[in-house]
Amino acid sequence: MSEMHEVVTRLSGKLFAQGRFIAGEGARIPVRNPARDELIGHIAVATPFEVRETVAAAVAAWRPWAGQPARVRAAALHALGRLILEDAAGMAEVMTLEQGKPFNEAQGEIRKLAEACHFYAEEAVRVHGEVIPNDQPGYQSLVLREAIGVVAAITPWNYPAELVGWKLCAAVAAGCPVIIKPSEFTPFTALYIADKTRQAGIPPGVVSVLTGDGAGVGQALVDHPDIPKVAFTGSSRTGLRIQQSCPAIKRLSLELGGNCPLLVTRHADLQQAVQGAVRRAFRNMGQICIAINRIYVERTVYEDFLMQLTAATRKLVIGDGLLSPQADLGAMAQVAPLQKTRQHLQDALDKGARLLTGGAVPQGEAFDKGLFFQPSIVADCTPEMLVMREETFGPLVGVAPFDDLDEAIALANDTPYGLAAYVYTQNLQEIHRCAAELDVGNVAINHVDAGIMNAPYGGRKQSGIGVEHGREGLLEYFQFKHVRLRHGVGG
Ligand code: NAD
Repeated sequence: MSEMHEVVTRLSGKLFAQGRFIAGEGARIPVRNPARDELIGHIAVATPFEVRETVAAAVAAWRPWAGQPARVRAAALHALGRLILEDAAGMAEVMTLEQGKPFNEAQGEIRKLAEACHFYAEEAVRVHGEVIPNDQPGYQSLVLREAIGVVAAITPWNYPAELVGWKLCAAVAAGCPVIIKPSEFTPFTALYIADKTRQAGIPPGVVSVLTGDGAGVGQALVDHPDIPKVAFTGSSRTGLRIQQSCPAIKRLSLELGGNCPLLVTRHADLQQAVQGAVRRAFRNMGQICIAINRIYVERTVYEDFLMQLTAATRKLVIGDGLLSPQADLGAMAQVAPLQKTRQHLQDALDKGARLLTGGAVPQGEAFDKGLFFQPSIVADCTPEMLVMREETFGPLVGVAPFDDLDEAIALANDTPYGLAAYVYTQNLQEIHRCAAELDVGNVAINHVDAGIMNAPYGGRKQSGIGVEHGREGLLEYFQFKHVRLRHGVGG
C-alpha cells in the first residue's frame, strides 16, 4: 500500500480530540477520489456526546493556553510550520487523493500553509493594548486585548489545507482553542494537519478536529453555548443559514461566495491580461471563491482578447493529479459544481452566447470515471445569463464587450457579491477609478493574486463579514477589555 493510502487508512473513522486520535462512534460517510471515483476511506460523523466532550476539553484548555506568554504560542506555531514543510509532499498526496487538484498545486498549498504558521507566530508576539489618558486627573484607561475563547472553524473543500490553517493559526496564536469541522469531501488533510499539531507539542484540547456533515456536526458547533466565535468559509447560503440559526450572540467571521469580474480596457497589456484571465478563471478548475467568473473587455480590443484567451486556454493540460503532478488542471472535487458548470454553460448557449472552446468532457480513457470537464469560454454574454450573475465555481468563464468604463464598473458592481475584482489597464486615471469605485473587499490591478498573507482579506455584501490574513485577521480572535483605573496620582 502506498504511503498516502496508509495515512488515509490510519485516519479513517478517527476524530482528533483531547490531543489524540480516537475512533468515532458515529455513522460513517465515504470519501472518494474524484479523479477516479474510487473509495479512499470513511469519516465518522461526530456524535452529540463526542461534540460535548470535545467542547468541554477545549473550554478547559482555553485559559491555560491564553495565559501562556505569546512567545510560547509563537514557538509552537513555528514548530508546526517546520513539521508541515518537512512533510509537504506526503501531505500534498493526501490532498490530491481526496480533492483532485494536481499534486504540484497541492504541494504549493501546503507550503503556503507552513508560511501562514510562521506569519501568525511572528504576529502573536506583537499584540498589545493601549493606555488612554482620561479627562479626570488620577484616572487611566487601559485597553486590553483578550482571547475570545473556543472557536469553531468550519471549512469547505476547495483549499483543504489553507482554509483550515488560516483559522487554526490565528486562533492558536491568539490563545483560542479551535475545533475544526472540515468539509466532508476533504477531511483527511485536516486530520493530517491535526497530527502535526500533536507533534508540534500544542497542548491537548487546543486543536481538535470533528468530522461529519454540516447540518449535524457543523450546526451542533454553531449551536453550542460554550463556543463564542464561529469562523466559517463556504457558500453564501450556508453562511446566511449560520447567521440566522445562531441561538445566541456570537462573533462570526464569514468568508463566502463570489462572482468576480475582470475588467480589461484598451489601455491594458493584452498579453498580461490574457495570462491573468486564464490563471484566475481556471486554476483549481475554477473552484476558487475569487475565481474570475465574468470578463468585460473594451470593444476595440474585444475580438483580439477573445482570440488570445481561446488560444491560451487550449494549451492548458488537464490530468489525474497524482499521475500528472505538473498538469495545469485536475479533476473537479465533487459532482455539484460540475453540474452547475454544465447548467451555466447550457443557459448561456440557450440565450445566444458563442462557445469559443471547451464545453465537454476531455477525450480519453483517463477521463472516463472522474469529474473532468474542459475549461470553457462563452463570449457575447448578456447580463441575464447565469454565468454573468451567479457563482459558477467551475471551469467556465463568460465574456462581454463594453464601450466605456462607467458601464463596465456598473456591470462589475451589479451583483449581490463583493469579494474580489480584477482590472487590467496601464492608464493611471482608470486605475484610480477602478480602485475607488469597485465595491469589493479586494481589488487586484494588473495581476490576479488578490490575497497575500500580511494584508487583510475579506468580502463585502453577500460575500461575508470579517477578515482573515494580516494583523487584522489575528485581531478578530480577540475582544477588548477596558480597565478604567483610579490610581489617584495627580488627582
Ligand atoms: P458549503 O457552504 O456547502 O460548506 C462549507 C462547510 O460548511 C462544510 O464543512 C459543510 O459541512 C459546512 N456546513 C454545511 N451546512 C452547515 C450548517 N447548517 N451549519 C454549519 N456548517 C455547515 O460550501 P462548500 O461547497 O464546501 O464550498 C464552496 C463555497 O465556499 C463556495 O461558495 C466558495 O465561494 C466558498 N469559499 C469562500 C472563500 C472565501 O474566502 N470567501 C474561500 C473558499 C471557498
